Amino acid sequence: MRAAVFDRGKLSVINVNDPKIDDTQVLVRVKAVGLCGTDLAIIEGTLPTPTPIILGHEFAGDVIKVGKNVVPKWLKKRVTSEINSNIDFSCYYCNKGKYSQCISRKALGIDIDGALAEYIALESYLLHEIPDSLSYDNATFIEPLAAAYQIFETMPLDPSDETMAIFGLGKLGLLITQVALLKGFRLIVVDSSHKKLTLAKTFGAQKLINRFDDPNTTNRIKTLTNGLGADVVIDATGNPLAIKDVLDSCRTLGKVHLKSTHGLDTPINLTDVIVRELTLYTSRCGPFDEAIEGLKTGKINVDKLISKKIPLKDIGKAVDVYNINQDHIKTIIHI
Ligand SMILES: [Zn+2]
Repeated sequence: MRAAVFDRGKLSVINVNDPKIDDTQVLVRVKAVGLCGTDLAIIEGTLPTPTPIILGHEFAGDVIKVGKNVVPKWLKKRVTSEINSNIDFSCYYCNKGKYSQCISRKALGIDIDGALAEYIALESYLLHEIPDSLSYDNATFIEPLAAAYQIFETMPLDPSDETMAIFGLGKLGLLITQVALLKGFRLIVVDSSHKKLTLAKTFGAQKLINRFDDPNTTNRIKTLTNGLGADVVIDATGNPLAIKDVLDSCRTLGKVHLKSTHGLDTPINLTDVIVRELTLYTSRCGPFDEAIEGLKTGKINVDKLISKKIPLKDIGKAVDVYNINQDHIKTIIHI
């Protein structure tokens, strides 16, 4: 099969052996894959992975074969998949229901081969059926949208009384923006792309800050929040240098949620975090069912987040565009 393999610092589309399934697995014919900031961090060398590896973990496709011990109903189903495979269901974290932190887990496309290929073998417990009304392209957003929903599960929040600031309006930031608005937050969104800010406004974001026009973002946020700073600040920038403004924009005793997985060291003034008694939260994977429901009901719009659709063979161009065009949001790869 054809696959996008990252090896020796380079991403290439090459022929590799088709994956074989065991009794507990299914074989999926991949249809569409979303390119993610994590993929870019691996390609740019900031997030280390074992190599060679097939990248890609936001995907959708059809089950074309099921193992002996898999419920036959999965055959021919349109599916997407959770990212954390090789779960042992017996470790400390699994016993607490925290399967995404299983000590045996291997993340698809990060620790083990992923979905930027014609076929992928998957453990059947990872599967989620895609509703008929959802295209393969839009279904690639289920995994990141679940990660956006998870923010709201992991911290105590009061939308009726709190202002939230979101730094970074890439795909994840724009998904978080939509979920936050559904939850009823007053929102301040920060980015340096006029186009992305305008899109956030069409979703309903009330206050926009363009970092080019307004380099002193922290002061601007304080002006909008009675001089205090936002009650909740989300970092979805993918940029380690943004962390200073993220922390400075949060009011004393406020909450900061970190979502950037760029793999780089991040300069944090911990003394300021301690003195102002900020609470730092983090999260990664989230509830797929909620994400599927959000897309199915049309409450979450992802059509406007797709900047480009390209065939697998052109994936090299897909990587470059993120660095060249700051208005670019999401590339979908068709397999
Ligand atoms: Zn476990």
